[in-house]
Amino acid sequence: MRYGIISDVHANLEALNAVLERLNDVDAILCPGDIVGYGANPNECCAILRDLGATIVLGNHDAVCVGRMDIEWFNPHAQAAALWTAEHLAKQHSDYLLDLPLVERRQEFVVVHGSLAAPPEFEYITGPSQACRSFADMGEYALCFVGHTHVAEFYAQRIGNSGADQTLVPSPIKVRIKPGFHYIVNCGSVGQPRDGIPLASCGVYDTDSGTVEIIRVEYDIETAQAKMRDSGLPEVLWQRLEFGM
Ligand code: ZN
Repeated sequence: MRYGIISDVHANLEALNAVLERLNDVDAILCPGDIVGYGANPNECCAILRDLGATIVLGNHDAVCVGRMDIEWFNPHAQAAALWTAEHLAKQHSDYLLDLPLVERRQEFVVVHGSLAAPPEFEYITGPSQACRSFADMGEYALCFVGHTHVAEFYAQRIGNSGADQTLVPSPIKVRIKPGFHYIVNCGSVGQPRDGIPLASCGVYDTDSGTVEIIRVEYDIETAQAKMRDSGLPEVLWQRLEFGM
């Protein structure tokens, strides 16, 4: 079984389409949240992921855009984008986002947006201490897919140990899932990468080979920016796409 991991799409249709074209041979799609917010195509991105039958969890931007979380948590640019999204999101898609679960558990992995330690608060896993809190809640699961930070990296912990190792993955890399360890993997952001590389970031989890591959994909950044600009979304949000920050 091969899963495509598509996180933090943020209504960037050009990036989503490019990533899906690259992942055209996977069996299923996992999405650790934030389908909408920031970008100009929230309805199209929701429709595509629904039609694919993707396993999706709620992200904090999805939550704010449909009123499941207070907008006060956001900075002014994110607030402006959330208000724009709420105004333009079709009811069928906002209803869909309203029903998304916070956590999805499958036989061999878990999917959550921020962290397993406190899903409704959308904690950011940015270092081993936060990762360890999620490892403590992983139980028997070998693998947990997260998003939220928009930075591709993974954490590994020997099952039964208390510490965790953190590895940033600035270039394409294959993570081998070793027996006796468990892993928290962030495959980066499709629609708004923040690691200084503007390419869309995604992943492939291959259960046969026991690997997670982080992949970077070129997409039409200029078109995505032009749509955001023409929609009146904040300049800082569309300018950052070309810098991957
Ligand atoms: Zn996000």
